[in-house]
Amino acid sequence: MSNPLLHFAGLPKFNEIKPDHVSPALDLLLSDGRKIIDALATNRNDPSWHDFALKLEDLDEKISRAWSQVGHMNAVVNSPELRDAYNENLAKLTDFYSDLAQDERLYAKYRAIKNGTEFSKLNSAQQKIIDNEVRDFKLGGAELPADKKARFKAISEELSKLASKFEENVLDTTNEYTLYQTDESNLTGIPEDVLLAAKEAAKGDGKQGYKFTLHFPSYLPVLQYANNRDLRETLYRAYATRASEFGNIKFDNTSIITQLLKLRDEEAKLLDFNNFAELSLATKMAESPAQVVEFLQTLVSRAKPYAEQDRRELEAYANKLGINDMQAWDVAYVSEKLREDKYAFSDLEVKQYFPEDKVLAGLFKVVETIFGVFVKKSNAPTWHKDAHFYEITRQDGTGANQTVVAQFYLDLYARNNKRGGAWMDEAITRRIVDNKLTTPVAYLTCNFSTPVGGKPALFTHDEVITMFHEFGHGLHHMLTEVDDYSVSGIKGVEWDAVELPSQFMENFCWEWEVLRHMTQHVATGAQFPRELFDKMVAAKNFQAGMQTVRQIEFSLFDIMLHSAFDPSGAKTPLDLIEEIRDQVAVVRPPKWNRFPNNFSHIFAGGYAAGYYSYKWAEVLSADAYSLFEENGVLSAEVGQKFWQEILAQGGSRPAMASFIAFRGREPSIDALLRHNGMSH
Ligand SMILES: [Zn+2]
Repeated sequence: MSNPLLHFAGLPKFNEIKPDHVSPALDLLLSDGRKIIDALATNRNDPSWHDFALKLEDLDEKISRAWSQVGHMNAVVNSPELRDAYNENLAKLTDFYSDLAQDERLYAKYRAIKNGTEFSKLNSAQQKIIDNEVRDFKLGGAELPADKKARFKAISEELSKLASKFEENVLDTTNEYTLYQTDESNLTGIPEDVLLAAKEAAKGDGKQGYKFTLHFPSYLPVLQYANNRDLRETLYRAYATRASEFGNIKFDNTSIITQLLKLRDEEAKLLDFNNFAELSLATKMAESPAQVVEFLQTLVSRAKPYAEQDRRELEAYANKLGINDMQAWDVAYVSEKLREDKYAFSDLEVKQYFPEDKVLAGLFKVVETIFGVFVKKSNAPTWHKDAHFYEITRQDGTGANQTVVAQFYLDLYARNNKRGGAWMDEAITRRIVDNKLTTPVAYLTCNFSTPVGGKPALFTHDEVITMFHEFGHGLHHMLTEVDDYSVSGIKGVEWDAVELPSQFMENFCWEWEVLRHMTQHVATGAQFPRELFDKMVAAKNFQAGMQTVRQIEFSLFDIMLHSAFDPSGAKTPLDLIEEIRDQVAVVRPPKWNRFPNNFSHIFAGGYAAGYYSYKWAEVLSADAYSLFEENGVLSAEVGQKFWQEILAQGGSRPAMASFIAFRGREPSIDALLRHNGMSH
């Protein structure tokens, strides 16, 4: 029992975990797990919460806790040995959970609990867990007769192959394209660092001059900055026709789209849904495709006048630049010039006012003020000297003692062998079993620049927003008061509601009252200038109208394609997106634009009939925040309500119920429009 991954009594022993521990720990946990599952599945007694569901909860909790330490270390202190151990065991784990999800003996037991006399006596979290299990087994095809089950399985496999083929085609067609330029007079306006990289890239190919590609760090700056209109058009055309009939026919996604749509439709109908969108929404907060369409239509009717205003302003500015017939390949270029003209400020200048100590203290102060807790540094083994450990405490009922509510690890800086990006992950999930409380623990990981030259690390405003965002996910996990594992914290929260607490926290980064106290010039100690802040706010809403209708165009296309479109009919997906553009777009791409052919979010990623959730979550978080605006943005009273009705509830009840309990009504789009400068 010296394997630290099999230690479940306290915090993870990060100072002891070695790659060699991974396989033995997982082998033991999974073989024990299979024995437990078999015993539960063959038990002849009537299943009960305590003797059946709780046992599976315990099992999942143990495996997940051990695996979260492995996954976390693989992400933040990667090594070849650890990566091998991770990949090898990930495959075992995937097999284990896929067998579990297919085990119809378990499904029968869950259903028996659901229909039995005990169910009404379970608490609401436990009922939700049983309901979720029954739902997920059904969606996995558990109720289908044998022949349909075989077809269902074949469809799932085919869908996953087609999705990866779609993504490969986008990648290959992106990789395949190169444009070499030798005449430097064609390249004016493009930033120095981009040119330097282009020169290096050409040299790497043994060529003269500069190499441009369709990868974002090369493509985007050309579209934004290149004064040469033909160059912009050439690259735009290549980009906008990726994976279509206009390029290498080998990588054309047109027929894959039709096949995907047909199979998704068939899959949904096997499960008794009218269309794929209904199947997708079965696990989401939005109730029906019609509700999503109506949400998007309402938003577009309010945002479109602002989008048209944005376009007129852009066209007027294009005229000034001598472009009298603005085209799709001019939009980013003219926008960038207009933005510089109207709101120029330097990120580098802003950064000087956001040293790490001030920012962290400011973040903790917000959390302490609105939730009445205390955040302080504590001690625990970590994986790296730059990773620190904190505690969130609150005063107990008598006021005499501090009780620990939650704990978290904070690992802020980028370094070698650490995965990029920022995220929150669960280390330990809150639960109470037999009166024994397990306190939740979170990992908060960022990739910010490290401190240099004895000065504190300095953060851009975007990085500060990222930190607040991830901390919001962290609060969702850490401030839960649910006692039952599978719906505690972020577990079991609907997919389109999960960004509510994170985007909610971002709002504080746009409050003068908050920023004023979390900023100070790192060298001079000067106050953060109010005019600089005002410029940042104005810049944030630059072209908000145009961007909003563009997101709605994609969202409507996605939801209609999966609910009101016949993939075997005469109308093509391109016809559909043109119809939607007739209604919502203010800037029309050229007829040869083949956006659907590289819309990986919905054809290869997890966003099929779910793209709307970006806007949906923004509406929820803005509207939740507006209750703070009405009562004082740092209101402790509203903070308690947010904690009790949203954070504390986790996945134990539908997100809509939590939202209404907090806000006193269903979500409204007004706050988001106001925050984006679209309400006058
Ligand atoms: Zn997020």
